[in-house]
Amino acid sequence: MYAISALCHDLGDIPHTTDPMTLRRKSRDQFVISPLLRSELAGNIADLVVTPRDKAELAHAVGAAVRHRIPITPRGGGTANYGQSVPLRGGVVMDMTELGAILSIGQGVIRAQAGANMAHMEAAARAKGWELRIFPSTIASSTIGGFVAGGSGGVGSAMWGMLRDRGNIGAVEVMSAEETPRLLEISGDDIELVHHAYGANAIITEIEMPLGPAWDWRACIVAFPDFDGALRFGAQLARETGILRRLASVHEWPIPSLMRDLNGVVPDGHSMVISFIAPPSLASFQSMVVEFGGRVVADHGLDEAPFGAPLHEFCYGHGLRQIQKSVPAYTGLQGMFRGPGMLETIAAVHEKTGPEEPFRLEMFWSDGEVVAMGSPQITYRDPKQMADLVALIQASGGGVANSHTTGVREVGIKRITPRDVAFKRDMDPFDLLNPGKLNLDGVQETNLPTSGWRFRARA
Ligand SMILES: Cc1cc2nc3c(=O)[nH]c(=O)nc-3n(C[C@H](O)[C@H](O)[C@H](O)COP(=O)(O)OP(=O)(O)OC[C@H]3O[C@@H](n4cnc5c(N)ncnc54)[C@H](O)[C@@H]3O)c2cc1C
Repeated sequence: MYAISALCHDLGDIPHTTDPMTLRRKSRDQFVISPLLRSELAGNIADLVVTPRDKAELAHAVGAAVRHRIPITPRGGGTANYGQSVPLRGGVVMDMTELGAILSIGQGVIRAQAGANMAHMEAAARAKGWELRIFPSTIASSTIGGFVAGGSGGVGSAMWGMLRDRGNIGAVEVMSAEETPRLLEISGDDIELVHHAYGANAIITEIEMPLGPAWDWRACIVAFPDFDGALRFGAQLARETGILRRLASVHEWPIPSLMRDLNGVVPDGHSMVISFIAPPSLASFQSMVVEFGGRVVADHGLDEAPFGAPLHEFCYGHGLRQIQKSVPAYTGLQGMFRGPGMLETIAAVHEKTGPEEPFRLEMFWSDGEVVAMGSPQITYRDPKQMADLVALIQASGGGVANSHTTGVREVGIKRITPRDVAFKRDMDPFDLLNPGKLNLDGVQETNLPTSGWRFRARA
């Protein structure tokens, strides 16, 4: 269907392959985590994987693909969890991982090529007394370009907020998808144009991220006799701006027992909060634990992987993956609870779902307030069961992003404004970038009746 042989000819010695195994491997991300996407996306395979080694090769490859009107799906570590990096219309998967150089580390700022591995960035920053403000639980294999284009927050958001909060992405250099590609440096609120846009309106080539001072974090598990205690403690921990905290991740019983590598750590019947606390704040943290009726049952250094993996790999998207190791049918939603009645809203949902569907929530800052992201975890039966849970959360006052669909707009984390439409038309005039993900003409019908997440509107 596409002129792949002609494109290969034009690519010359820029690394590229049509090896079927590589095509299959590089056409998948982690969408299997979703029972709804598992079968829906299985058959989407690229025709060619191109791996440029520098920006000049990237520009050459993009220009050639555009001349032949062949779609281009950028790809970093391929850890996206709702098919963001799956090439829905085939064509080229542009593997960005060879553009992985860390370009500079200065006073509280790091600049890297988009394909830089985030664990390498964290290590390089720490060697100079700094650390990434925010990283996803997939830090070991994700790239900074993929995080900015496909992620939303993670470890560090309990202190710094979400990626979309002002100041958490410093600047982004992007390349257009034109016959002669252009480079553009964007900063300030314009970054919103490419953040969480799945590479469907520009290819990110370089990123500047702010850093925070590095701490020797203690990774602690605090056990609570009931979910309510864990919930209130997690929310308050995120709110305590004087405490150096990187993570406040709440898991209702029996989740600690479903994460088989944690077996025996958390007492039977107890919910847990996984927290990362810096040494100067440990005494205040301990006072909070006592006040809320909890008990620290594990306390480990950053470099330790006491339960077969570092503790951040039991939180955010990894929490579900840990549960699925023992019950593959478990799934959940990206609910978002916010506002003064946040805890009451969660309690209202909890009352209806009950202990059979235990809650997992990440507490962090967003738009200047502490919010809770997550949902009850359910044993998946059918889409109706998921739709009922969406309806329950939304009727109770929460928002839900659709983590079981692939469209930017349909997922409902990034809002599409007229500026986004103009930017897409300017940077990708032939609609070749990750096609099928950014629908300009309105929301398409999806598998779940989600309303998306609510954020403060910006002018
Ligand atoms: C178990 C699990 C846990 C997760 N935890 C988190 C979490 O804590 N926080 C979070 O935010 N996300 C999380 N995710 C989602 C995902 O891992 C992260 O967003 C991750 O940072 C993506 O990086 P990547 O390099 O793997 O990107 P990829 O999967 O390769 O790509 C992600 C998206 O970005 C696009 N893209 C990649 N590189 C570029 C580029 N250079 N220019 C333009 N577009 C590009 C791709 O086309 C795709 O749309 C999780 C996923 C899983 C499976």
